[in-house]
Amino acid sequence: MDLGALYQDVILEHNRSPKNFGELKESSGTAHGRNPMCGDEVTIWLRVDGDVVQDVSFVGSGCAISKASASMMTQAVKGKTRGEATKLFEAFHGMVTGHPMDEATLGKLKVFSGVSRFPTRVKCASLAWHAMKEALESPAATRADSAR
Ligand code: ZN
Repeated sequence: MDLGALYQDVILEHNRSPKNFGELKESSGTAHGRNPMCGDEVTIWLRVDGDVVQDVSFVGSGCAISKASASMMTQAVKGKTRGEATKLFEAFHGMVTGHPMDEATLGKLKVFSGVSRFPTRVKCASLAWHAMKEALESPAATRADSAR
């Protein structure tokens, strides 16, 4: 498998026109991630209401894998409960690190499964997911949750 096989159409399309791109007003949690090995940067905003991720957005720069992964992460996580978002994180992380579990829940995100064969690309693909999890667990997001 060559590196070209990683760049499937869906990844190139999300890189070209990313979804949910831009700062989220009235977010309940935010986190920034960097991947110095590749030069990828990403900032994630989440708005959690009760137990549900009502909205999620990102701003980032870097390689196609990192941007497409952030874009598809926002689509996957929006509307999910905290528990579901955490499970998706675990399933995605398992897939790209070569320890697949719960792959059925990943749907379109499975286009990133080839990443596990390219160790230097694992961070590119998982960067936005780590930032999402950090934003999900940030004090402000937790406060919004316990305010009910
Ligand atoms: Zn990268």
